[in-house]
Amino acid sequence: MNEFPSALDHVHATLAELREQGVELRASAASLARLAATPSAAVPAPAPVVETRPLSRPPAAPAGAKAEQLAALRGPVLACTLCPHLVQSRTQVVFGVGNPEAEVMFVGEAPGEEEDLQGEPFVGKAGQLLTKIIVAMGFSREDVFIANVLKCRPDLPAGESANRMPKPAEMQTCLPYLRQQIDIIQPRALVALGATALEGLLGASEPMTKLRGRWHDFHGIPLMATYHPADLLQNQSLTDKRKVWEDLLLVLERLEKPISEKQRGFFLSKG
Ligand code: SF4
Repeated sequence: MNEFPSALDHVHATLAELREQGVELRASAASLARLAATPSAAVPAPAPVVETRPLSRPPAAPAGAKAEQLAALRGPVLACTLCPHLVQSRTQVVFGVGNPEAEVMFVGEAPGEEEDLQGEPFVGKAGQLLTKIIVAMGFSREDVFIANVLKCRPDLPAGESANRMPKPAEMQTCLPYLRQQIDIIQPRALVALGATALEGLLGASEPMTKLRGRWHDFHGIPLMATYHPADLLQNQSLTDKRKVWEDLLLVLERLEKPISEKQRGFFLSKG
């Protein structure tokens, strides 16, 4: 039996697989010409000379419908051990939750204690406020997608229980996973919640007062920056609530959603 056609198929399949994994392939012109000219009954030609080099972008998202692609990504993320110190301390990886077809995606900085225990982002007090905000926008939690830049809870010195902010290097290590989630979902808008999330996404370290309320660009997707719900819980200022709401009205306008007069008036001072 002539095994060359199946060997050739194998070469093609392997090259396709490497491309899907984000590896750029280069073959010499002579090798390609040899490959194209080889008759199926001939003795196998030498394998093409293939150079591989990693691309700067993260690996391509797996093929398939968005839900299937997210499901395929989920396994490797849940098993990730890239940050050994976080692997030691985490209960579990917090992948993200919501609609794979979401028009809008909310991105926070990292899981806190509750999120680490439940395996879902934004389920503590700040998360409950985020859910109220999402409902006020006219969505449900199931309509949108919610994720963090860092998918494991930042570790703490022994005996401490407060959450700590993720470090820039930790966020950079984890960011390719969020990039893949965004590449799969292709939301029409991203909302970065808080300065740390924005720093993780854009590397921006200016104060939120300068960055909120205007559109940024995250690899071609419009990104709105606003305060983290935890900030609103801390200061309870009507002015800051209104600022967040104005940022989200811009998101609704961008998504061409109907906005009622009641919605336009949320958190406006009556005085
Ligand atoms: S934080 Fe991200 S990169 Fe680090 S171990 Fe967790 S999932 Fe992996």
